[in-house]
Amino acid sequence: MFTKKELIQYEKYLKLNELGDFVLDYDDKLEIIDFHTHMCNILPLKPIDPNTKGNNLKYPTVPSIENIDFSIPYWTREDAPISRNGFLSLIKYLLNAYSIVQDMMKGGNYSNCFRSQEENQIGINVVLPLSTKKRDCSQEALRIVKDYPDRFIAFCSVHPDDLEAKAKIVKYKALGAKGLKLKISDIELKNDFRSLINLFKACHEAELPILLHTGTIAVNQNSGSRLCKKLLMSTRVEIFGHLLEYMPRDFVFIFGHSGVSEYKLVAEYLKKFPASYAELSSQSQDSIKYLIDEVGYERLLFGSDWPALPQAITLSRVLIATEENKEARDYILNKNAKRLLNL
Ligand SMILES: [Zn+2]
Repeated sequence: MFTKKELIQYEKYLKLNELGDFVLDYDDKLEIIDFHTHMCNILPLKPIDPNTKGNNLKYPTVPSIENIDFSIPYWTREDAPISRNGFLSLIKYLLNAYSIVQDMMKGGNYSNCFRSQEENQIGINVVLPLSTKKRDCSQEALRIVKDYPDRFIAFCSVHPDDLEAKAKIVKYKALGAKGLKLKISDIELKNDFRSLINLFKACHEAELPILLHTGTIAVNQNSGSRLCKKLLMSTRVEIFGHLLEYMPRDFVFIFGHSGVSEYKLVAEYLKKFPASYAELSSQSQDSIKYLIDEVGYERLLFGSDWPALPQAITLSRVLIATEENKEARDYILNKNAKRLLNL
């Protein structure tokens, strides 16, 4: 069987640290802002103190070594874990999601974060809280910046059904939030997008960019249960891209993950909506190159989705994609982020 060590022998810009995790292999100096990160206290479950030590990350989101293919988004050709048995595949899907969040909660602490920043030349992590209808974790994200103002920038996260959404957005901006993050689906919204559009409008008014989790992994349309497919498709790009038609032209919308496997559709939206951006976590060297060729490099943002994914993987993809274009590299790694964050 193929080992991790054998795999990275052929991978430029990647090496393993002593824990066996992927880290950046690059000697010259880089200036990097990671536009998509999380921490253990800003996830949908009960917050964990980020000062807790230890608990190495296992990164269950990374495909198994024998299934890794870094040249495509999400880095695997393996089919989504769905079978014809709807109930079984749903259980499998939920268990997988649970183990990912558990790993992020155990290992998304300051000590692991700073280690990863150092190993990968990351100057600043933009921390994206994931609020639910029941729990708003924006204050926790702001606390992270208060603890370490040189290492972090915080977004807030307000659920569209929050009755005080508008006032909260204004308040969080005053407290230092530089944008709003949301992970929501058409299932949760029951296909009624009015509250989400109102949230968009409140952000536009407050001059805060908004980043949404967008996209799906490649789903084999001929197999699998309907329920699982529905779940996987519930954050697909067109749901949110379509809403931009209701917004002013200068509304700053960031397609989180560049739509994963739907990056070509994200490129079409970026052409149509000049104030929209694409954040690159989970993309490949080829898809990043595609986005640069289609929409230029001034609206692309490096992000990693740490601690769900190692910071080094998407980062090394950006470096490969910009090998011949150091200006593009600079814009994607820091200049575009600075412009958006008013740094
Ligand atoms: Zn994320």
